[in-house]
Order: sequence, then structure tokens, then C-alpha cells
Amino acid sequence: MLYDAIVIGGGAAGLFCAIEAGKRRKRVLVIEHNAEVGRKILISGGGRCNFTNRDVRPENFISANPHFCKSALSRYTPQDLVELVKKHKIAYYEKTLGQYFCRESSRQIVDMLLAECRSARVQIRTACTVTGVTKAEYFEVETSQGKFTGKNLVIASGGLSFAKVGATDFGYRVARQFGHKIVETRPSLVALVAKGGGWKQLAGLSVEAEVSAGKASFHENILFTHRGLSGPAILQISNYWKKDEPVSIDLLPKMDVAARIAADHTSRQTVANYLSQFLPHRLSEQLTERLKFNKPLAQLRRHEIETIGAAINNWQIEFSGTEGYDRAEVTLGGVSTAELSSQTMESKKAAGLYFIGEVVDVTGWLGGYNFQWAWSSGFAAGNAI
Ligand SMILES: Cc1cc2nc3c(=O)[nH]c(=O)nc-3n(C[C@H](O)[C@H](O)[C@H](O)COP(=O)(O)OP(=O)(O)OC[C@H]3O[C@@H](n4cnc5c(N)ncnc54)[C@H](O)[C@@H]3O)c2cc1C
Repeated sequence: MLYDAIVIGGGAAGLFCAIEAGKRRKRVLVIEHNAEVGRKILISGGGRCNFTNRDVRPENFISANPHFCKSALSRYTPQDLVELVKKHKIAYYEKTLGQYFCRESSRQIVDMLLAECRSARVQIRTACTVTGVTKAEYFEVETSQGKFTGKNLVIASGGLSFAKVGATDFGYRVARQFGHKIVETRPSLVALVAKGGGWKQLAGLSVEAEVSAGKASFHENILFTHRGLSGPAILQISNYWKKDEPVSIDLLPKMDVAARIAADHTSRQTVANYLSQFLPHRLSEQLTERLKFNKPLAQLRRHEIETIGAAINNWQIEFSGTEGYDRAEVTLGGVSTAELSSQTMESKKAAGLYFIGEVVDVTGWLGGYNFQWAWSSGFAAGNAI
């Protein structure tokens, strides 16, 4: 059988693309090497899938070309996805910062996609491993279940994070085979490993903070770990963090700590006790121990007050690396957008070849943005095939 399109990867982007093409009466085959589709959707959002965000803007995405995502995101919006979720009677709620989660389970999103696939007559082959792709007149896809031929080939095989749920470098290999460049990849939305070790005494402690790297800044919680820092603000900044550049953390963003101490300069309280009014006690003890200034406020000199202020409002911390792909929610970088159409996701190097979802050099913030990119880029390709 000659398919109009063969989609490699039964994740969010691949299934969505197949549904859109199927609705337009295209004959579509999805090939997935796991025993079931959508395994990353199932584990996402702590099992409740943060399927989109109310406020999706191009600024929420990182790419060598920040304009590339605009067209696809404007043609399939979070509101469109919410309408689909409502149509399938999936209860959802806004957790925080516009993040929409399923009330019950991520499984509902996979079931929704499978129901849409059925009504669009999309064929799905699971436990099917692709061994090679060639193009003559059509695309030939060699698999563990035989050879399949398609007029179009959509690469929706995702990034490198979480190999245990099926991630491979397949998409990048196909891209290179057809002459595409790959923007260097690295794990992202991931915990960072501190130079010189983490904080055993503080591990598990979470505090609100403002975390900045370069021009990016996020005001959410950070979490101390045995090896470094995690928590939403750290995952967000991991998209922007560059090796050998320190990250700046403001542990009390609403307070000028030096000015506050100076105003209370006559106090007999020790620094650690004084700071415990504003910070968890364990943290204020650790900080003052490190600074060796744990004396009454009244005995502090001006430069000591400034040092304490800087340690809290502008803590400069260096990281040696990340916790790696096995812990990362996404892969930063990927198939260069320079050789893809932003309208359709089609390759400018090989007609009929498309790249969608995480395999492309478009990475979203934490908070439903990566799924929205999967839906929007899948929609763009599905309507172009
Ligand atoms: C733990 C975790 C939680 C997350 N939570 C969220 C969240 O709540 N909200 C959010 O927006 N994003 C979240 N993400 C990110 C989000 O899951 C991904 O960005 C999104 O799934 C990417 O969709 P995709 O279809 O491009 O790739 P994937 O979902 O990774 O799908 C690719 C598919 O291709 C298959 N595949 C790979 N190689 C081959 C091959 N050679 N042959 C056949 N099949 C192949 C894989 O098995 C996989 O099923 C999370 C990620 C992780 C790891």
C-alpha cells in the first residue's frame, strides 16, 4: 500500500499530525517502536499531563531562530487544544501560571488522541522498529514489520531525554542523512549540579526565589538537592544557563536585605536568628555559617552588612553541569529551523520530508509549552501533507 504519509514516532506531535492529515482523508501510518503510543504523555506532569498553557507566546520558546515558532503557534493555539479537551469531556484545571493539567490522568489525553486517530482512520503500528529510510520516487521505510512506502515522511521521533520511555537519536540521524544541520543538543528543563557539591544539610528544602541567567529571569521555587539545585525556577533557567557562567539567585526578591539589616542595626539578635524571620531557619544558619558572620546585628560592620545582602539578594552560583538526559524533561537544540518551512515544517532539502515536535530546534519553557509546540507543529505539517 502506498501511504500519503508515514509518521515516525507515536508521541504528541506524531499523533496530532496524523489526526490532522487523516481528517483531510490522507492515508496515514504512524510507526512507534514502543509497545504503546504516547508513553511520554503518560508520565508527563506527574501523571496529569500539563497539556498546554493559557498564555503561549513566542518568547516562551528557545531556538536559534526565535521567529520560527510564530506561524505554527498562531494557527493552532492553546484555546484550540482546550476546545478539543472539552469535546472529549476531560476535566482540567489551571494549576499555576496558566498551566492546564488533567484533573484525573494523562491517560485521558492519550485516549483522546487515539479516539481522534480512529475517527480519522489513522493506522498505527506499535512495537515496530525502523531500521532505515530511503527516498527514490517515494519514501521507503524499512522496519521490523516489513517495508512501508509513503509519499511523505514525517519525523516525530522526539528528543533524547528519557531513553527509558523510548527516546532515540533517530530523528537527528535522518536529518543528517538528508543534509540537515543539527543545532547542538543538550539536556534541559533539568536539575543543575553545583560546582564543589550540593547541600546535604539543606537537601529537600524549597524556597521561593528569583533566578537569573543572562537576560532570562524566573520567579518560582528552587529546591536544594544533594548535588545542586532543582525546582521549577532552576528547570526554567536550565534552558538559558551556559557552562562557566554563574547563575544569580535572589533568595528574598521582595526585600533589599542590606537596607533592612542597616535599618535594624541596633538589634541584639544574631544574624541567623534575624534572617530566620524571612528564610527557613536551616537556610539562614547555613548562610551565616558560610559567611562566618553569625554575631549580633549591632556588631556588624558596613561591609559585612553588604556581604550578607549580596549573599541573599545576589547569590552567584556556578554549576558544573546538569543531571543529564535521563532526568531532563526536554532536549535543547535539534534539527535546525534554517532548513525547514515555518509554515509547514517541510524540509527545504528534501520535498515531502517533515520534522515536527521536540526533534526540531524549538524548546519551550516548563509549563505546558512543549506540548503546545508538539500540537502546533503537528497541526502545521498535518495540514500541509
Ligand atoms: C518526565 C517528563 C515530563 C514532562 N511533562 C511535560 C508537561 O507536563 N508538559 C509539557 O508541555 N511537556 C512535558 N514534557 C515534555 C514533553 O513530554 C515533550 O516535549 C513532548 O512529549 C514532545 O513530543 P514529541 O511527539 O515531539 O516527542 P515524544 O513525545 O518523545 O514522542 C516521540 C515518539 O517517537 C518514538 N520513537 C523514537 N525513536 C523511534 C524510532 N526509531 N522508531 C519508532 N518510534 C520512535 C518514541 O518512542 C516516542 O513515542 C515532559 C517530559 C518528560 C520527560
